[in-house]
Amino acid sequence: MPVQNGLILNKLSAFMMQVTFLGTGTSQGIPIIGSTHPVCLSDDPRDKRLRVSVLISWEDATYVIDCGPDFRQQMLRANCNYIDGILFTHEHADHTAGLDDIRPYYFRQGDIDTYAHKRVFGELERRFDYIFETENKYPGAPGVIQHEVKNNHSFELKGVKVTPINVWHHKLQVFGYRLDDFAYLTDVKTIEQAEKDKLKGLKVLVVNALRIEPHISHFSLQEALDFIAEVQPERAYLTHISHLLGFHAEVSKELPENVFLAYDTLTITI
Ligand SMILES: [Zn+2]
Repeated sequence: MPVQNGLILNKLSAFMMQVTFLGTGTSQGIPIIGSTHPVCLSDDPRDKRLRVSVLISWEDATYVIDCGPDFRQQMLRANCNYIDGILFTHEHADHTAGLDDIRPYYFRQGDIDTYAHKRVFGELERRFDYIFETENKYPGAPGVIQHEVKNNHSFELKGVKVTPINVWHHKLQVFGYRLDDFAYLTDVKTIEQAEKDKLKGLKVLVVNALRIEPHISHFSLQEALDFIAEVQPERAYLTHISHLLGFHAEVSKELPENVFLAYDTLTITI
C-alpha cells in the first residue's frame, strides 16, 4: 500500500483492538471427560469449550489473559507466534496450569512479562518452582518477569491504559482488567460499587456466566445479565460457561439483543 494512503488510513481509523476467545469453558472444559450430558455430546463446535482465556491485540501488541491447561492448543489454533505478556486473573489451575507451555515463546523472546497480584505470584512460585529457580536453573525451563498488579493502580501496556478491577470469587480476590473501552471479568460472584464505577462507558464487557442455577463462586446467567444491565456496556459477551448453561444455539436465542454467548475462536473488534 502506498505510504500516503497508509497515513490517510491511520488518520481516519480510530484505535482498534482485537479480542479472540481462546477458551470459553469452565474449569473442566466442555465436553467433560466421560460425561454423557447432551451438551457434552453436542456436534455444534460452539459447544466445545476449552478453559477460559482471551488473546488481545492492537497495533504491534499481543497479550493473553490467563494461561490455563489448554494454552498450547489454543496458541497453535490462534496461530499466535509471539506474545508481549500474560495477565493473570487469579491462581486457580484452569487459569494458570499452562505456564510451562510458554517455553516456545521464551526460547525465541527471552523472559516473558507476566502481570498478577503478588499472592498469585506466590502460588506460581510454589507450583512452578523450577521456573523461578535462581541457582542451577535447568536450561530448558522457561523464565518470566514479574510485574505486580495492585488494585487502584493502573498501568500501561504498549500505549494502552490497563485498569485492574477487583472482584470476588466467593472469598478469593480476583483481578479483572479494563483495557481502553474493553473489560474482561471472569470468576466473579460479587463486585463492590467502587469497582463497578471503573466500568463506565465500555464498548465491550466480557463476564462469566456459569450456568442457570446459582453457584457459590460464579455468576449464574441471571446474575450476569443483571450485572450487564447495571454496567451498561454497548455489547457484552458471556464466558466461563459450564455444560449446565445449555446448548449455545438455544441459550443465544434467549439473550438481550446486546448480549452474546462467546464461543472458542470468536474474534471481535473494538
Ligand atoms: Zn475459573
